[in-house]
Amino acid sequence: MKKRVVIIGGGVIGCSIAWRLAREGAAVTVLERGRLGREASWASAGMIAPQAEAQAAGPFFQLCLRARDTFEAALEMLRADTDVDPEYDRAGILYLALNDQERSELQQAGQWQTNAGGTVEELSVPAALKLEPAISPQAVYALHLPLERRVENRRLTLAYASAAIGKGAVLVEGVAAKQVLVHQNTIGVTANDGRTFDADVVINAAGAWSNGIQGISDPFECYPVRGQIVCFDARPGQLRASLFSPRGYLVPRRDGRILAGSTMEEAGFDKTVTLSGLTKITRAAFEMAPQLSDLPFREAWAGLRPATRDFLPVLGSSPSLPSLFYAIGHFRSGILLSAITGEIVTDLIQARTPTIDLGPFSPTRFIEPPKTSVLAFIRDILFRSRVDAAAQSSGKEVAYASDLEQGLRRCGELQPATILIDLSDAAFPAGEAAAKIRTAVPNARLIGFASHVDLKAMDAARKAGFELTLSRNEFTSRLGELLTL
Ligand SMILES: Cc1cc2nc3c(=O)[nH]c(=O)nc-3n(C[C@H](O)[C@H](O)[C@H](O)COP(=O)(O)OP(=O)(O)OC[C@H]3O[C@@H](n4cnc5c(N)ncnc54)[C@H](O)[C@@H]3O)c2cc1C
Repeated sequence: MKKRVVIIGGGVIGCSIAWRLAREGAAVTVLERGRLGREASWASAGMIAPQAEAQAAGPFFQLCLRARDTFEAALEMLRADTDVDPEYDRAGILYLALNDQERSELQQAGQWQTNAGGTVEELSVPAALKLEPAISPQAVYALHLPLERRVENRRLTLAYASAAIGKGAVLVEGVAAKQVLVHQNTIGVTANDGRTFDADVVINAAGAWSNGIQGISDPFECYPVRGQIVCFDARPGQLRASLFSPRGYLVPRRDGRILAGSTMEEAGFDKTVTLSGLTKITRAAFEMAPQLSDLPFREAWAGLRPATRDFLPVLGSSPSLPSLFYAIGHFRSGILLSAITGEIVTDLIQARTPTIDLGPFSPTRFIEPPKTSVLAFIRDILFRSRVDAAAQSSGKEVAYASDLEQGLRRCGELQPATILIDLSDAAFPAGEAAAKIRTAVPNARLIGFASHVDLKAMDAARKAGFELTLSRNEFTSRLGELLTL
């Protein structure tokens, strides 16, 4: 039987996955609350630029280099499956330094990128000017990144969508996923129009909005980072290479438009174009290519990049719901990563091992290992500091309670594995404390201590079922061991 897959979100990521899965015979439905590809995937500049965008060597850089090759290969397949031309151009990127500090940063970037498998050509300023006469005469240094590419991202999303439809996928516009539902062995999505879409697998590809779907309780967030773009009219071919610098970038389109970008702003879900955004972008454009200063302004827009806490994508199945998959958090590189994401997610859903290590991009990376929690019913501040010192050297955390009631509340919140009780303190009568604590945390280990002459308290604790009762001295000397039990 065909695998039924519901994809939430019809951006470049959702549409790429839909195409790859439909190609392999899955019954795919994409739910898009607005129009296909009209959010971040529409606002993008469309650079296929693993090197220009890179911050450091590491698994993400390697993923992006692989993504560039996968993208090229996917376009071949896409051409066979749709007539929509995504206007892929192999023109490369010219990365400019306009002062000495930028030059030294760029030289370092060129070095590490070459060592990490990137392709970099150092250019003298005359050589750079020959490659692209529009660049600023203030340029002091340039790197040519000849393998960087660009694509008309709006057409790319439509190409994926049209190819997916050609392979039998159903793409529904104007329908928002409200909730992911699980009943026994099946999973489904309820929509704002009252319909339920049953599936074997659900994929969350809702970009910056992916946390807004109910019924999902995984411990990470994807949030919007606004990027503004200013668009100018030029003659087709007036700018040949895309230009990049630490200040911004200029990306030409085949029809002559030149896109200048961008900003990185945390402004919630607000897609407003602002005076400060326009100022920053136009100043950067002017500094990189003053020869273009007469270009007429055409339009400006903003979009919301989907970001995670570590700015890496989240690719893989949900830690809490194995039939739910994530393909979110592509941040500044979702166009570049679209084809490889389609390939990876399809591999995972078809139970094939992906060809890259997904560890750094796994949804499980956000799950914090549980801390050993110890709750101490101790009021003596000096004694608390002794416990804290021992806890610190054992790498543990201890919470304290100053009375029985507060302690019981903290038992409920923390569910501690170990509870330490100062039995010499009348605030913590052994019998009553044990009975109440057992109700709140039935499996906690109760360890009581008292002065060696306080035999009554020790005896009461033993009768109340404490796992361990110790004299104060013995307790102090064994603290390290007791905290790591
Ligand atoms: C200014 C700017 C420039 C950029 N430049 C580049 C670049 O040069 N190169 C590059 O690789 N990347 C670039 N990016 C990043 C890239 O655009 C994004 O990473 C990529 O578009 C993310 O795709 P997506 O499908 O995850 O998100 P989106 O395109 O935002 O798609 C998510 C979709 O989910 C839908 N949705 C949300 N909630 C629901 C719901 N409950 N039910 C149904 N549908 C829902 C939304 O309507 C939306 O259509 C740029 C981004 C911006 C903003």
